[in-house]
This record gives sequence, C-alpha cells and structure tokens, in this order.
Amino acid sequence: MSAREAGHRTASVGVDVDSLWHYYRIHGLPGETQSNAAWRDGVARFVQMFAGLGIPATFYCVASDIELPGNRERLRDLVAAGHEIGNHSLNHRYDLSRMKPAERIVEVGQGRYRLEMAAEAQVFGFRAPGYNTDAGLIADVKNTGHTYDSSVFPCAPYYAAKAGVMGLMQLLGRESRSILGTPKVLIAPREPYRMDPEEPHARGDGLPQFPVSVAAGVPLIGTAFTAMGERASVAAAELAVRLRHHLTLEFHAIDLMSLADDALAPELSVQPDLRVSVAQKRRIFESVLTAVGRRAKFVRLCDLKLGVG
Ligand SMILES: [Zn+2]
Repeated sequence: MSAREAGHRTASVGVDVDSLWHYYRIHGLPGETQSNAAWRDGVARFVQMFAGLGIPATFYCVASDIELPGNRERLRDLVAAGHEIGNHSLNHRYDLSRMKPAERIVEVGQGRYRLEMAAEAQVFGFRAPGYNTDAGLIADVKNTGHTYDSSVFPCAPYYAAKAGVMGLMQLLGRESRSILGTPKVLIAPREPYRMDPEEPHARGDGLPQFPVSVAAGVPLIGTAFTAMGERASVAAAELAVRLRHHLTLEFHAIDLMSLADDALAPELSVQPDLRVSVAQKRRIFESVLTAVGRRAKFVRLCDLKLGVG
C-alpha cells in the first residue's frame, strides 16, 4: 500500500539543474558562458541541505550538461546519496511543444537514455523546460519509457509575470528564448492526477502528472520563497500542507547561489533572487522544508504510486 492510500500526506522536492547559460538565454543576455557553477556549487549545497533534513529529492538534469567536466561523477554521487534523477531534456529547449515531432522525441528520449547511461540508474520522470507541455510532448514522454511527468505549473501569478516579462523584452528588442505556453495550465488540477492523453491539463486515464504545487495563489518554488521571506514562506507552506494530500515543491540549482557568494557575472542581477545571499536563502528553505516535514512524509516521485481511478 502506498503512503497516499494509507491516508498520509506526502511531499516531494525537485531541483531543476539548469546551467547558468540557460539564464542568459531566458533573459536574452549576450555573452553565453559555459560556467558549470550550478552543477558544481548549486547542486552540492542542495545535497548538503537535504542530507541535514533527511530528504530524498529528485534532480531534473539536462542531459547535454553531463558532458561538462565532473558532471558524470556528480550524477552518480546524487544516486549514491539516495536521490532520484529526472529528465529535464537533452538540450533544455523551451520550444519543445513547437518542435517537429521527429526532433522533439530526440530531445525527450535521448535525454532519458543519456542520463540513465551516465547515472547508471533508471530515470522515471520528465520535467519540461519552462513548464511548457502539451499532448504531443506527453505522448513522447510516455513512449520513451517515463512513468510520470511533472511539468504542469498551474499558477496564475507566474503565468501573468511571465507574460509581462516577455512583453517587456519584446519592447526592449530582446528576444527571450522562453515561450509562454497555454493558459489551459491555469485550470489544471492542483493535486497529482492521471492526464487525459488528448489534454494533459485535464484528468484522464493516462500518465501520472505531479503538478508543481500552488496553494492560495502561492507557488511552492524556491524563487517565491526567496521573494516572500521566511515568515510568509513558512505560513504558505503550513497552509499548503493542510490543503493538499501531496505537495510537489520545486527549486532550481541556482536557488542556492548568489551574485556575491559565487562572483557571478553582473548581467545576472536581472534575476533578483541572485542578489540574496546563499545563507539567507538556505535559512528560508530549511524553515519551509521543516514545516512541511512536520505534517508530510518526504518521498521521491519515483516511489509514489498514484492510485488508479
Ligand atoms: Zn529548466
């Protein structure tokens, strides 16, 4: 019997391991860098924090990043520490849902295959770059052997902010590589569900979906916790864990990095949470995770079985 069937609350924690050059791309900044600091420092700090809290997590990795020095070993270290490796695609293309089907399935399938080979562990879950998904992409996720997807992020403020930033960048003549996705995401279920293969934002009998949790309009993601501060974040987490049977919290590797701590390129100050120190962010995240852990059991998504029907 799964924890869910037993009536216990569960929570899972994911970390999207996006290299710094993805942020240059999102913000349309010139001068891409091959910096591997997100893998080297960001991931290491999350591993250390999770070890202190006893949390098994899921690290969604971009398969092409494993070619950078030391990352194969880091991937295997994550597995050895009891964490799950998720597939965050081959190249982190934000336009997967607009790609030709023959190219898209390579991004999904090769991403999973290369991560499995490098990690020497099975990869079960997929998270789409930029949370953009649709029926075609979900069909690829299923057909390439994944057993769940966690790309749906049903958050109106996030959607509105993203639309606003992208509009502003258009006005400034910068081309963002991120795409907005469908507003249907806003009516998606807030708890884990099986997707309708024709419409992954609605319930059906297809692949399990673990949407990133949103409670009372607050997304349970690292950047939101950093923006809200410790007290408000803990209050949001305590409310969320009462409202939901299962929470899916989401971080990015750079959530435990900062401009000052890591001597990052000043252009990245457009990402406001990078102006907050690592120590302060870690304090906030530890308080949030401790609050969730008081009422829910932390599980990796690969260990969570969704009841059929
Ligand atoms: Zn990403």
